[in-house]
Amino acid sequence: MGFFDRLKEGLSKTRKGFTEKIEQLVTGYAQIDEEFLEDLEAVLLSADVGIQTTGSLLADIRQAIKAKQIETPEQLTPFLRERISALLAGGEDAQPHAGEGPVVIMVVGVNGVGKTTTIGKLAHYYRDQGQKVMLAAGDTFRAAAIDQLEIWGQRGGAEIVKHSAGSDPAAVAFDAVQAARARKADLLIIDTAGRLHTKSNLMEELKKVHRVIARELPGAPHEVLLVLDGTTGQNALSQARLFKEAVQVSGVVVTKLDGTAKGGVIVAIRAELGLPVKWIGVGEGMDDLRPFVAEDFAEALFADK
Ligand code: GDP
Repeated sequence: MGFFDRLKEGLSKTRKGFTEKIEQLVTGYAQIDEEFLEDLEAVLLSADVGIQTTGSLLADIRQAIKAKQIETPEQLTPFLRERISALLAGGEDAQPHAGEGPVVIMVVGVNGVGKTTTIGKLAHYYRDQGQKVMLAAGDTFRAAAIDQLEIWGQRGGAEIVKHSAGSDPAAVAFDAVQAARARKADLLIIDTAGRLHTKSNLMEELKKVHRVIARELPGAPHEVLLVLDGTTGQNALSQARLFKEAVQVSGVVVTKLDGTAKGGVIVAIRAELGLPVKWIGVGEGMDDLRPFVAEDFAEALFADK
């Protein structure tokens, strides 16, 4: 199966809960009236597109109706697809570049969102591109997280820098940057803790890790990726606001899109946070994390069964 088909398959639940419902609406109405627009609003909200983004999509639609760009219900689907694609686009293809030394990616996010898995998949992806990848086990709060990362590192062919559980994550980051330079790695991916119940401490810790990395390698981290669980809907949005304030998040990874009918949340994440979605996870396999391409995503979302 090619990647587009896998993406389509991964988005099948969202397609059922979102685009197929729009199709039903379109075929159920002979003309666009207020009732049609109200039903459409309900579909968008139930797919977790979010109040703000739903509002702006509906405003666009009303505008297009006025301008006679949309005259029949059937004309709505291509219009919506295009608008969603446009809302999702921008900045996603920017790759992190380093001057001298390795590219450093710091990965942040709440426990359970798929951070470790994502790091493993990223290591695999970049190694496939011929890069020498190293990992840093910066979630020293959980012994299991260190073990997990090591397993993913072995699978993805990446060397790992780790300290024992309970040690200072900034010290791990420091050692990892040193090691990555010394061993001439192309890429260093740094895991971080994600315990949210003590959030002020967590944010201070993340800032410190960020500072240490920047001090050891000017220009680093070249990317701060925030991992969000696509199945958590609006909760993912509030997490994003929290992390965005604390560390300079440069891009978002949305995981588990295969496990939800509410994948519309990705539109809200992109539109309401102003952060590019850079990667999406549509499964648990090594190859199920892919660079995000807005147009492909919209196409897969609106594709026929
Ligand atoms: P962490 O606590 O953030 O490091 O989360 P983990 O990486 O341990 O992942 C938590 C669970 O989510 C694991 O069971 C993963 O297999 C699963 N997971 C991660 N990404 C995806 C995805 O894209 N799709 C699916 N279906 N499961 C995923």
